[in-house]
Amino acid sequence: MFTVNAYAATSATEPLAPTTIERRDLGPDDVAIDIKFSGICHSDIHTARSEWGPTTYPIVVGHEIAGVVREVGSAVTKFAVGDRVGVGCMVDSCRECDNCRKGLEQYCLKGNIGTYGGVGRDGEPTQGGYAQAIVVTEDFVLRIPDGIELDAAAPLLCAGITTYSPLRHWNAGPGRRVAVIGMGGLGHMAVKLAHAMGAEVTVLSQSLKKREDGLRLGADHYHATSDEATFTDLAGSFDLIVNTVSAAIDLDAYLGLLAVDGTLVNVGAPEDPLSVRAFSLIPARRSFAGSMIGGIAETQEMLDFCAEHGLGAEIEVIGAEKINEAYERVLASDVRYRFVIDASTF
Ligand code: NAP
Ligand code: ZN
Ligand code: ZN
Repeated sequence: MFTVNAYAATSATEPLAPTTIERRDLGPDDVAIDIKFSGICHSDIHTARSEWGPTTYPIVVGHEIAGVVREVGSAVTKFAVGDRVGVGCMVDSCRECDNCRKGLEQYCLKGNIGTYGGVGRDGEPTQGGYAQAIVVTEDFVLRIPDGIELDAAAPLLCAGITTYSPLRHWNAGPGRRVAVIGMGGLGHMAVKLAHAMGAEVTVLSQSLKKREDGLRLGADHYHATSDEATFTDLAGSFDLIVNTVSAAIDLDAYLGLLAVDGTLVNVGAPEDPLSVRAFSLIPARRSFAGSMIGGIAETQEMLDFCAEHGLGAEIEVIGAEKINEAYERVLASDVRYRFVIDASTF
């Protein structure tokens, strides 16, 4: 085992604070990674504050990890010391169930092992990326292509794959009208990715404050949802809507924006339940769906797609001492568009 500096939440209400954690000894198939950058996902905040149910404390959150391989186990074949790598929301799964065999490890029937808040193969609670280093089995480590800087790559490991996967699944591409609700970490990546896939992209944001950015990142249209006219002007006009909002919103209003056979896919994971009226779906054969991150092979595909299209996240790099301040800014929708922690400051 080795000891690394980290930042942990110790209760739902205390600020995150510096600590140290142990990482397991390298098994034959393990890769030890020196973390260089760690993104701040809204899921980290939901978890640190026990918004999805009781969290076991202390917990080190963070599942947007970019770094460099420090050491490899004796049987590792895919990675070598010095490689640029990433780790996302999962560090293992059963590898045997139908879903794992299909490359859908995120939907493992026995439950994937979360990068934090799960139970690792050493029987200890898994601790995430707000730390100097991590040890992960090579099958759950991703290769970061040379074309993407490590700081801009980190958020791709969650925000990137969580939006790439549903955009691909529901065929975002030429001739398809895609709307993105919320211009935060996930939302801004959805805009970039849907645009790169060739779709016509519309942002539905609470205000027009981030309009210029949205258009620069690839949106064709930008509307404020605080303006009632948005819901009448755009009625029935989208094939796919990706909802990235971290709070419960009036889904019925947004479902009215879908064309016949359109789908609203929810990736936002609010604390409070969402409700849908049957008559928001029935009259236009609409679907309401959910989607969770993406499989390992698909995550690599997304990273390669981003390198090919010159995409990375729009980031603000901060020192670890600014994590609590950054959380408040995320909660105030004042993030442009992902905070990334410089791991040398842990
Ligand atoms: P984020 O950076 O905070 O972005 C959320 C955006 O939603 C905000 O920037 C804001 O955009 C909008 N918003 C916030 N509160 C709102 C409200 N009350 N009403 C309407 N719009 C509101 O968060 P994120 O990191 O992108 O994560 C978004 C959600 O996805 C979180 O719930 C997170 O847990 C979840 N998530 C799910 C998965 C998955 O696998 N399904 C993976 C990662 C994250 P505007 O200012 O443009 O309105
Ligand atoms: Zn996340
Ligand atoms: Zn499985």
